Amino acid sequence: NLAPLTRALLSVSDKTGLVDLARALADRGVELLSTGGSARTLREAGLPVKDVAEVTGFPEMMDGRVKTLHPMVHGGLLALRDNDAHLAAMEEHGIGPIDLLVANLYPFEETVAKGADYDTCIENIDIGGPAMIRAAAKNHAFVSTVTDVEDYQLLLAELETHDGQTTLAFRQQLAQRAYARTAAYDAAVSTWFAGALDDPAPRRRAFAGTLAQTLRYGENPHQSASFYTDGTDRPGVATAKQHQGKELSYNNINDTDAAFELVSEFLPADGPACAIIKHANPCGVARGATLKEAYAKAFDCDRTSAFGGIVALNQPLDAQTAEEISQIFTEVVIAPSASDEARALFAAKKNLRLLTTGAMADPRAPGLTFRQVSGGFLVQDKDNGHVAPDELRVVTKRAPTDRELADLLFAWKVAKHVKSNAIVYVKDGATVGVGAGQMSRVDSANIAAIKAARMGEALGLSENPAKGSVVASDAFFPFADGLMEAAAAGATAVIQPGGSMRDDEVIAAADAAGLAMVLTGMRHFRH
Ligand code: 5GP
Repeated sequence: NLAPLTRALLSVSDKTGLVDLARALADRGVELLSTGGSARTLREAGLPVKDVAEVTGFPEMMDGRVKTLHPMVHGGLLALRDNDAHLAAMEEHGIGPIDLLVANLYPFEETVAKGADYDTCIENIDIGGPAMIRAAAKNHAFVSTVTDVEDYQLLLAELETHDGQTTLAFRQQLAQRAYARTAAYDAAVSTWFAGALDDPAPRRRAFAGTLAQTLRYGENPHQSASFYTDGTDRPGVATAKQHQGKELSYNNINDTDAAFELVSEFLPADGPACAIIKHANPCGVARGATLKEAYAKAFDCDRTSAFGGIVALNQPLDAQTAEEISQIFTEVVIAPSASDEARALFAAKKNLRLLTTGAMADPRAPGLTFRQVSGGFLVQDKDNGHVAPDELRVVTKRAPTDRELADLLFAWKVAKHVKSNAIVYVKDGATVGVGAGQMSRVDSANIAAIKAARMGEALGLSENPAKGSVVASDAFFPFADGLMEAAAAGATAVIQPGGSMRDDEVIAAADAAGLAMVLTGMRHFRH
C-alpha cells in the first residue's frame, strides 16, 4: 500500500511554510507544479517549479476564478494508477500523475470575520481548491492531500520513514481531514449567506466548526473532548485572550460562557456588575457602585458555592477588584479588559485563569443554540428575548415601588440564565437566593429561601436576606403554592411571565398576601 511521490501540485493561499516544504520535496526529486502566487513565491526562493498554466495550456483567467479546473489537473489527481483504461486515457491525452496535492483555500472565514462587503466575500469563495481537494482525497489510494499547514511536518516525516513514499493509512488520514475542511468551508459559506440574507435560522443548513483546541478531557475524565469554534466574532469565551493559568477545561469553557453571557445582560453604561457561576448556574449576581462592591455583593449571596467558581465582570478589571477576588480560590475571571495592576496581582495566582474579551457581548444579538439528543441535535434561536419596563403588566392591587421595580428587572435578567425551574430572590441590586434546576417550582422557591437564610446566618445578619426581597420566576406559577413559598420567605414583589390556566388564583393569592406582581408575557426556560 505504499505510493510513490513523483509529482506534486502546490496551490495555497496561506503561504506559511510553503518554501520549506517545497524545498524538502524538491530535494527528494519531486517535480513541483504550482499556481500563480504560489509559483511566484517558490520561484523567488530559487526553487524549480512549473506553472499549472503551462500544464493545462490555458492561462489563469477571470481573476483567478479558473486556474486549475482542467482535465490535465483533475485527470492527474483522479486517475487510478492500477486501472488500464485510466492509464490509457492518461497516455492518450498526455496527462501526468499528481501524487500530492498541497492546497489551502481562499480565506473565506477570515474575510467574513473582517466584515468584508458582499462582493468581497463572494470573491473569496474558493472553487478550484475544494474541487482539487475533493478529487485528490477521493483518490487517496494513490494520492496524498495536505490541506493544513500544520500537516507539512507530518508529510515530511512520513516520506522520511518510508523512503519517499506514503502509506495508505497516512493517505486515508489526510483524506478524512481534507473532507472535514471542505465541509467546514462550505458550511461557513452557507452560514454567511444566511446572515447576508438576514435569515439567521434558515430551515436548511449545515453545521460545522473549526477545531480550536483538543481538550484534556470532557465533562468527566473518562470522556475525550474538543472545542470547535464557529467563526463568529461575538466577544466571549471562544474569542477571548487568556493571559495566565492552565488551559481551560471543558467545564471551564462551559461555565465561563454562562458567566460572561449572564454579565453581558448588564450594560456597562448602567454601572458595574458581576456574576459568579458554578456548574453553569449563577451562585451570585450583583450590581455595585464599584466593581469591587459588585463582586463582594455577588459573593455574599452564596459564599460556599462561590469557592472555585467563575467570575465574570462587565467592566475592566481593576486592582481593587482583583485583590478582593484573590481572597478565595477562583477558577476563571473573565472581563472586557484588565488593568496592568490587576494583571500583576493575578500573576502570583498560578491556578487562576484570566481572560479578556475586548468588549461585552450583545445580549440581544441573534444566534443559534444546539442541544444533542440521541440520534440528532436540536437547533433553536438563542434566547435573546427582552422585556422593556413599559411592557410589564401590573396585575395586583398594589403596583411595585420604584425600588422593587428595579430589583424585579434585575431578577428577571438573572432568572433567564438560571436552569429551570428558576427562582431568584433579589434585594438592592444583588441576588440573595437562587433556586436552580428543580423539577418543582415550589422546591426551587424553597431551596432559594433556605440558601438565603443559611447565608444570612453565616454573615451574622439579624434577619433573613430574603425578607423584603423581590422574586423572579422564569416561567408561570401553575398554582399559588410556589408564590406562597416566596411570600413566606419574605418577598414583597414578583415578576413572572403569567399565562397559567390558574393566573386568577395566583393573582388573588398575591393580593391576599399584599404582594405586587408584574407579568412579562415572555418565558425564559433554560434546561
Ligand atoms: P495562488 O496564490 O497560487 O495564485 O492561488 C492559490 C489559491 O488558489 C489556493 O487557495 C487554491 O485553493 C486556489 N485555486 C486553485 N485553483 C483554483 C481555481 O481554478 N479557481 C479558484 N477560484 N481558485 C483556485
